[in-house]
Amino acid sequence: MMATRLLLLGPPGAGKGTQAQLLVERLGIPQISTGDMLRAAVSAGTELGRRAEAIMARGDLVSDEIVVGVARERLGQSDCSAGFILDGFPRTVGQARALDGILEDFESRLECCVAIVADDEALVERLVKRAAIEGRDDDDEATIRHRMGVYHEQTAPLVDYYREQGVLAEVDGSGSVEAVAERVTEVIS
Ligand code: ADP
Repeated sequence: MMATRLLLLGPPGAGKGTQAQLLVERLGIPQISTGDMLRAAVSAGTELGRRAEAIMARGDLVSDEIVVGVARERLGQSDCSAGFILDGFPRTVGQARALDGILEDFESRLECCVAIVADDEALVERLVKRAAIEGRDDDDEATIRHRMGVYHEQTAPLVDYYREQGVLAEVDGSGSVEAVAERVTEVIS
């Protein structure tokens, strides 16, 4: 049996989004990316987007209150009842506690936190290259380095949080997309 209530954790550029998309195809459950949802809100010019835009462009975290609200609403939609792949949420211990509460309300719980382990300098290099192609406005090198710092300060503590919950699986994020996907499959099987 594959786990289907999953969380992908890892620094910016570690390949969470790519691995999440492969899992969507394999498992037929939705990817929940708060980053994508916030970017869509910014493009659509909603109230939420207006509140998040400048914070995201700086590479800082949008407030727990905002993202928890977004995640709660998304997780309550019917397509999440068979499982979900969280990508980019939670990002703080406060968000992780809130997620536990949301799932408890649905009489559910996280089955596996897959933490993708990767080297910072390799990631910065990868993101600088991706920036040239995609041109996201939080993708200049200084902002990328800032996001990396924010990850270590605010998000990396979640590795211990989920280890203590007994649901952590660490996966080596180096090598090809396929190689990483194979390792991910192994730990969620
Ligand atoms: P990355 O490429 O670093 O994985 P994402 O696409 O997940 O980035 O997120 C982009 C930006 O959106 C973050 O830098 C942050 O400003 C905001 N964001 C996304 N998810 C969250 C979250 N769970 N909490 C706070 N801010 C978030």
